[in-house]
Amino acid sequence: MDVADNIRRIRETMAEAARRFGRPASAVRLMAVTKTVDDDRILTAIGAGVEILGENYVQEAKRKIDKMGNPCEWHMIGRLQTNKVKYAVRLFDMIHSLDRLDLAQELDRRARAAGRVMKVLIEVNVAGEETKSGIPLASARDLVRAVAPLENLSIQGLMTMPPWFDDPEEARPFFRALRELRDRITAEAIDRVEMRELSMGMTGDYAVAIEEGATIVRIGRGVFGERTPNM
Ligand SMILES: *Cc1c(COP(=O)(O)O)cnc(C)c1O
Repeated sequence: MDVADNIRRIRETMAEAARRFGRPASAVRLMAVTKTVDDDRILTAIGAGVEILGENYVQEAKRKIDKMGNPCEWHMIGRLQTNKVKYAVRLFDMIHSLDRLDLAQELDRRARAAGRVMKVLIEVNVAGEETKSGIPLASARDLVRAVAPLENLSIQGLMTMPPWFDDPEEARPFFRALRELRDRITAEAIDRVEMRELSMGMTGDYAVAIEEGATIVRIGRGVFGERTPNM
């Protein structure tokens, strides 16, 4: 299982899917999702030119960033606990998992203290699955409007994680729903809100996500191989 080969193959699939959607390959960035992956393989992925590393846990990210520095962007994709926010605003280039106003307020406060403007995506639970994080689709626009005035946050777009299906085609309606939500929010032209990013698509369904407009795909197993269970 060669990480660099995997990345090359994924890039080709990404470029073909982007073409089908009428976009250049450069319109979609590859995030390598590193949960449970050892440092050597992460460094190989960096060497192979992934644009972004995706982290689910703040503490794990801190250790890696201390060791590896910033050869590419680091994004937070996991559930963010309020008591970890003060570290998160110093570590990450973007946070994909903003799904509630109290978290936004804490991020804004801590970003101000750190002297920076934090880029965020609003995570939307399109299917309304109880076990998943993310704001329900019907409430997402209200959350965007509420977060928009917070001066040390910058909304860059939306993120979603659809239900798991064997057939990636079944995820398509959820990706499409996120794109349509993006279009409705864009049409509102809310002050300080940019809708440039759609973070959607994982190992099993990233080609479909790109056909529906993804600008960041988050790929773990496709890059690094199957994860060890119970980790
Ligand atoms: C683990 C994870 C991924 C990657 O999943 P794979 O199926 O390994 O590609 C993407 N997004 C989030 C939020 C994750 O937790």
